[in-house]
Amino acid sequence: MESAVFSIRTWFRTRLLVPVIGTPDVLPDTLTSRWPELARVRWRRGGLPLRVGGWCLGQRTVQGITLWQTVFLAPGSAWDPALLLHEHRHAEQFASSAVFPLLYVWESLTRGYSRNRYEADANAWAARRVERPQPTNLSPGA
Ligand SMILES: [Zn+2]
Repeated sequence: MESAVFSIRTWFRTRLLVPVIGTPDVLPDTLTSRWPELARVRWRRGGLPLRVGGWCLGQRTVQGITLWQTVFLAPGSAWDPALLLHEHRHAEQFASSAVFPLLYVWESLTRGYSRNRYEADANAWAARRVERPQPTNLSPGA
């Protein structure tokens, strides 16, 4: 009986849960030490949101998509700092306003994805953070 319960749990997890919500993933320490803000969101690999995002853009999937404080990354995609920082910025946008999801959809419907001001903001913010010099261990004022 125990193995039957285990099998049902395994089936539920592999056939339903993982395809919908993906699996948790952990950022490499090198990334969180350089960009500590990246540790403030949850990272997952795979999941239905990637497909839904892709369908909205007329493609099979997207590399990353953020829903509130969770970022879904495509399985097997590299830890690209520009992508991670872009998605992190979306998490900040979600945190800034309860109506952000509606505003984002409205922007996409009226201006298109590429001219969506939240996408432009996330791209610009990520570009600034990637270019910022890495902190050093030198003492202040050195
Ligand atoms: Zn985006």
